[in-house]
Amino acid sequence: MAEEIMIETRNLTKRYGEKTAVDHLDLTVRKGEVFGLLGPNGAGKTTTTLMLTGLTEPTEGTALIDGKDCLRDPMEVKSIVGYMPDNVGFYGDLTGRENLRFTAALNGLEGPEAEERIQSLLARTGLLEAADLKVRAYSRGMRQRLGVADVLVKDPKVIIMDEPTLGIDPEGMRQLLELIREMSKKEHRTILISSHQLYQVQQVCDRMGLFVEGRLAACGTLEELAEQTREGAPVLTEIKVEPADEGFVRLIKELEGVYSVGREGSRLIVGSDRDVGNALAQAALDCGLKLVSLRPCGNDLDDIYQRYFEKAGHEDGNRDGSKIKRFISRNR
Ligand code: ATP
Repeated sequence: MAEEIMIETRNLTKRYGEKTAVDHLDLTVRKGEVFGLLGPNGAGKTTTTLMLTGLTEPTEGTALIDGKDCLRDPMEVKSIVGYMPDNVGFYGDLTGRENLRFTAALNGLEGPEAEERIQSLLARTGLLEAADLKVRAYSRGMRQRLGVADVLVKDPKVIIMDEPTLGIDPEGMRQLLELIREMSKKEHRTILISSHQLYQVQQVCDRMGLFVEGRLAACGTLEELAEQTREGAPVLTEIKVEPADEGFVRLIKELEGVYSVGREGSRLIVGSDRDVGNALAQAALDCGLKLVSLRPCGNDLDDIYQRYFEKAGHEDGNRDGSKIKRFISRNR
């Protein structure tokens, strides 16, 4: 059976005067997928989400959600899409429950049915205890979870989240990512997350698009992105043995395919043109050393981004290298 496409853009373009914020974007997101639209500030992520939610008009191209045109059928699109902006605007002097009641009423849901839905959403998002406290007393993580509850009030098929992980602590992050996973895997909702927080977001995305200067530079699963950007770049493996031994370093330099061995503290970073994991483990064994850790490295989204821009820099004189470097270092 063909996979159902829930979000589709074709040639989607937005220009503000001379500035092209989104440049002929072709994107498809399947039902139940979590898709990360990732890129530095100014890449055009927010403009894309605004066009998908019918809040701004494309200059060119189309955006469809569940087959409905975001420009021509905005009301239908709004009925199936829940949008969570980066700073969800709640009324600080109302409680969490009262804020949800307000959203429910705006969506035509009132009375016992609304109360039941709100109660179950507060439970799902871990906010039952805080439900009757004023929102102004909520932490950023609690507000984000209330944002998720707020979006779920109207039971949307598609959820678009703008920078959902910004400014929340590790526990808040864990809870939020778990909620996102559940909404996708258990409830088969389609989720588009726009973010510049690579590391946090990659943990929960099925596929990601690297968005740069209005264009999708690369797109796929983490593995596919690694492949797309590798091309000629070395395979990197990190190994730690005890005791650290110069003889071992000499031995692994001789292994077929290995062309560099670097040190990072007590770890060795081996560059090769193929997978040498087994050969490294065998070499440690042959030397009578204890193998403390062995893992591929260079496949984090940060590394992929770095490789992508190094490549792009060589190809077109690095249009905006300094901005990208700031972006990568901020995410480390
Ligand atoms: P951020 O995370 O900083 O919001 P972003 O990836 O979401 O970044 P956008 O906000 O979509 O990027 O902006 C893309 C480009 O379009 C930027 O150069 C921005 O200055 C420009 N832009 C966005 N909105 C407008 C507007 N209303 N008028 C003029 N230029 C705009």
